[in-house]
Amino acid sequence: MLAGSYNSLLVLFSLLVAILASYTGLDMAGRISTSQGRAAFGWLVGGACAMGTGIWSMHFVGMLAFSLPISLGYDLAITVLSLLIAIASSAFALWLVGQNELPVSRLICGAVLMGAGVAGMHYTGMAALRMTPGIRYIPPLFILSVVIAILASGAALWIAFRLRRHSPLVRPMRAGAAVVMGLAIVAMHYTGMAAAQFPLGSVCGAVHEGVNAGWLALVIIVATLAVLGIALIISVLDLRLEARTAILAVSLAEANRELTYLALHDALTKLPNRVLLEDRLDRAIQSADREHGRFALMFMDLDGFKAVNDACGHHVGDLLLVEVAQRIGVTVRSQDTIARVGGDEFVLLAEVVEPADAATLADKVLAVIREPFQLAGRELRVSTSIGIAMYPGNGSHRADLLINADAAMYHAKALGRNTYCFFEASMNANVHEQLQLVQDLLAAVGRGQLVLQYQPKFTAPNGPAIGVEALVRWRHPTRGLIAPDQFIPLAEKTGLILPIGEWVLDEACRQIAAWRNTGLQDLTMAVNLSALQFRHASLIRIVRETLARHALEPSCLMLEITESTAMHDVDASLRILEQLHDMGVRISIDDFGTGYSSLLYLKRLPASELKIDRGFIRDLARDTEDAAIVSAIVALGQTLNLNIVAEGVETQAQQEFLTRLGCDSLQGFLLGHPMSADDLIDALSLDGVRGGRPANEAGMGMAPVVGQVG
Ligand code: C2E
Ligand code: CA
Ligand code: CA
Repeated sequence: MLAGSYNSLLVLFSLLVAILASYTGLDMAGRISTSQGRAAFGWLVGGACAMGTGIWSMHFVGMLAFSLPISLGYDLAITVLSLLIAIASSAFALWLVGQNELPVSRLICGAVLMGAGVAGMHYTGMAALRMTPGIRYIPPLFILSVVIAILASGAALWIAFRLRRHSPLVRPMRAGAAVVMGLAIVAMHYTGMAAAQFPLGSVCGAVHEGVNAGWLALVIIVATLAVLGIALIISVLDLRLEARTAILAVSLAEANRELTYLALHDALTKLPNRVLLEDRLDRAIQSADREHGRFALMFMDLDGFKAVNDACGHHVGDLLLVEVAQRIGVTVRSQDTIARVGGDEFVLLAEVVEPADAATLADKVLAVIREPFQLAGRELRVSTSIGIAMYPGNGSHRADLLINADAAMYHAKALGRNTYCFFEASMNANVHEQLQLVQDLLAAVGRGQLVLQYQPKFTAPNGPAIGVEALVRWRHPTRGLIAPDQFIPLAEKTGLILPIGEWVLDEACRQIAAWRNTGLQDLTMAVNLSALQFRHASLIRIVRETLARHALEPSCLMLEITESTAMHDVDASLRILEQLHDMGVRISIDDFGTGYSSLLYLKRLPASELKIDRGFIRDLARDTEDAAIVSAIVALGQTLNLNIVAEGVETQAQQEFLTRLGCDSLQGFLLGHPMSADDLIDALSLDGVRGGRPANEAGMGMAPVVGQVG
């Protein structure tokens, strides 16, 4: 036999290559299992090439480390075949560990196939020497080498499968596994080499036409290392990218969660909002239907919240709402839903066995809200009014239930607040009526159902007339003439007051312009503004455009806003009023005496008129306190140089009394009812003819009363 010898440096080097190839294989297995579709296929092909080349190159280096006393060469075709076998078995191995499961039977089959592949590559590689006579293999060692190949493959597959997912220690574990696998592959190779016996006189058939080892081997080693290196670098870079994508995906999911939360919760109290409540309500209805259960829907509205807001500011109001939410939150059970659906409105959805349970719960809520609140260094007290709708019974859809609970809540308010009220069918009629009224009102402006009446205002005690106030009425097709008290609050609640107010302003301006053209030069036109209109951003523009449309002097127009509207947010009011004042429009403070104006602010308001509230005029003769208030207002008005008007003058006694107290102007049924434009002209010209007589005798008192429009 020819005695073979090994170059130990190259042996060591072959081991290194084997470990590197194993590491690359494990890494690729990880990439395949964490990517999908074409990417996974790409990793499989690239991984199989890198790993196959690595294992094959290990074999080649191992062959180079081996030398015989004769010269050796390698048959090119067979060598390439052995490389292909290495790549194919690597591809198979990578595919196998890329599967979702690796049962034992599959592991064994895989190990046998892959082991056969590795052994096949080795012995094909040996065949590339084309020795004559042929290499003789010692059977036990040959079998041992194949067994080692199978066992090593089995171990490699199992390790690769276990390590394919990312975990914190995956890199060091992978490195350790690569060393074990590298050793196994090398062991297989050198066992196979030990099995090979080269008879004396053997000749290497590939030495002449085959590839001579030498420098070519060096090229292969360098190329292999490059392939493995590049594969690993790409893998690491891609992993980083993947990690960054994963982080991005996590933050995206977080942002999504946050958005969903925001969309379903109230920002201030963190309670569910109306959207979430409606969803829960739908579910509650479904589950009650399914399980023959019952629940109560409670609509709660704080009593006196607006006063807190006005007196202490929005900041304290917000704190109060948060605290109220917390108190209700700890009173109800965790499975109940408490939602905030409006400024100071909360809705509680609670599963109950019978209505008495709802009453008990409502009592508890009333009690916790009644307790004084300590906020921003002050003690505040509020209460709640609760309306309760039961399911089943008080409506079959969520909208019915909410409307009915709301109606019951209004009933609780009417009962004197700080109480609860169960829904009853009689309340429903009211709700439907209101809904119908809103529908009708919506159409009223477009259909020309609104009309204006004009009530004159006189210099005290009985003339001449200095202006008129426009008062809106609704000529309803079936209900007849409706007074503003019955639809203005509804219009404010629904926002319909904006188009209505715009129409009133336009119609009043048209009328005053028409009168002025017929020679009535001295009259001013007063138009009432609701709080919503007054605060609306387009008010200034609308007033300016309306005046321009009718070519009116701004000074003919007087806008009446109530004292409480003006004092609500004083700074904002001042800004709006100053703009109107700068335009030349006059301002009247209506219902004066009912709010609590600070003198300081009153001084700054650019108003030209104060209208004493009707309430003070009514009992003037009997109530000395009212008389004191009126004379105080008159005195105040005189210091501030304001025209003082008393409204609601119904009797001659009031007329005389007010004149004596120093009121500048009077308005009331005694002197003239609100009436149509034509009637007003008739009355005024009559008054002009009779001139100087007490107005009640002059025909003004005979003008049509409200409800009998001429
Ligand atoms: P207001 O601005 O205080 O209007 C005066 C109300 O007192 C009018 O009621 C008028 O008819 C009534 N009145 C006048 N003289 C007497 C009297 O001697 N005795 C009694 N008992 N009442 C008298 P009306 O027309 O029913 O209007 C009620 C309220 O509706 C008005 O109170 C005003 O706040 C509002 N309103 C009327 N028209 C409009 C409008 O065009 N826009 C807005 N935003 N509100 C309006
Ligand atoms: Ca008024
Ligand atoms: Ca008034």
